[in-house]
Amino acid sequence: MTEFLQAVDHRKILHVDIDAFYAQVEMRDNPKLKTVPLGIGRDPDQHHGHGVIATANYLARKAGVHSAMGSIEAKRACPDLVFVAPDFDKYRQISVQIHAIYHEFTDTIEPVALDEAYLDVTENKMASPTLAAQLRHRIWQETGLTCSVGVSYNKVLAKLGSEHHKPNGVTVIPRELAQDFMLALPIKAFRGVGEKTLEKFQKLGVKDGRDLHAMSLDDLRVYFGSFGDVLYWQARATHFSPVKDRSVRQSVGKESTFEFALHDRQQVEAAFKELAEKVVQNMEKRKLLGRTLTVKIRDDDFHTQTKGITLADTFDLDPAFMTRQAMLIFDDCYPDEFSVRLLGLTFSNIVPQKYEAVTLF
Ligand SMILES: [Mg+2]
Repeated sequence: MTEFLQAVDHRKILHVDIDAFYAQVEMRDNPKLKTVPLGIGRDPDQHHGHGVIATANYLARKAGVHSAMGSIEAKRACPDLVFVAPDFDKYRQISVQIHAIYHEFTDTIEPVALDEAYLDVTENKMASPTLAAQLRHRIWQETGLTCSVGVSYNKVLAKLGSEHHKPNGVTVIPRELAQDFMLALPIKAFRGVGEKTLEKFQKLGVKDGRDLHAMSLDDLRVYFGSFGDVLYWQARATHFSPVKDRSVRQSVGKESTFEFALHDRQQVEAAFKELAEKVVQNMEKRKLLGRTLTVKIRDDDFHTQTKGITLADTFDLDPAFMTRQAMLIFDDCYPDEFSVRLLGLTFSNIVPQKYEAVTLF
């Protein structure tokens, strides 16, 4: 166990969180919004009272507006609140831009939301606080956005670090300070502690990390089942979960080469359908969606053409639909005779189907 602990404790992990992401993007694109309380969500007056706040800027937060709040309630809390409808397409594109910057530092990236990710930079020789500073500078340079970064040797501490100095801050929690940090932490700030757990803790008189640290592993298991183990180790500033490499791929595709050239349109259609099925399988396995579908065609003369279609929204993962789109492009390239040696189908402009919640182990 000691050896294992030493190994996991020598990791260098960053947790990056773009500050009030959607709100910050809208303020960047329309500076007038910087000086008003801003809620990203539908205006209830224009949508029959519907709408939910996705993100609020810091002025709105001061007035008591927070994310997941109904728009009406938000307006009640802050009558001057300015509503801007979310533009998820734009946010996804910026997220892709930010991921490209992450890749300058490491390939071990675990996104947890469009604006949040863990990076394992253990392999990088530079000191982690330096890396955090450089990363923040690069994101600012490329996108004009600020972020908060937590630096530590495990994911829980890195995340707590990024929450510690928000917005636009860096918090480094080294090994020698980690235990004290956890002892002083209010119990509700521990990862995975929701309302139900909090109630139990209140009944037990557990208010912070120090009280939690005093509980035995057996007692924690009795009260919380297997989550008791997670709590026990968290109180000891120990967390084993690796940064799960789920960085978003740039493209997912498949190609087929034919020994005998295809001359028949039906053969081409069948080949595209087979490729589409394989690509869909792959996309589903990786829980991804794509906005651009690119068709590659190589003929007998080794002449290669690639043409793509980009949709405003992502493609449905439907092989029949993809085949029809591919055939439209194909017919456009070869209205008459053809002799095809290779066909390919590729999705790019990739986004995750949905981000999974942070798991503790
Ligand atoms: Mg954020």
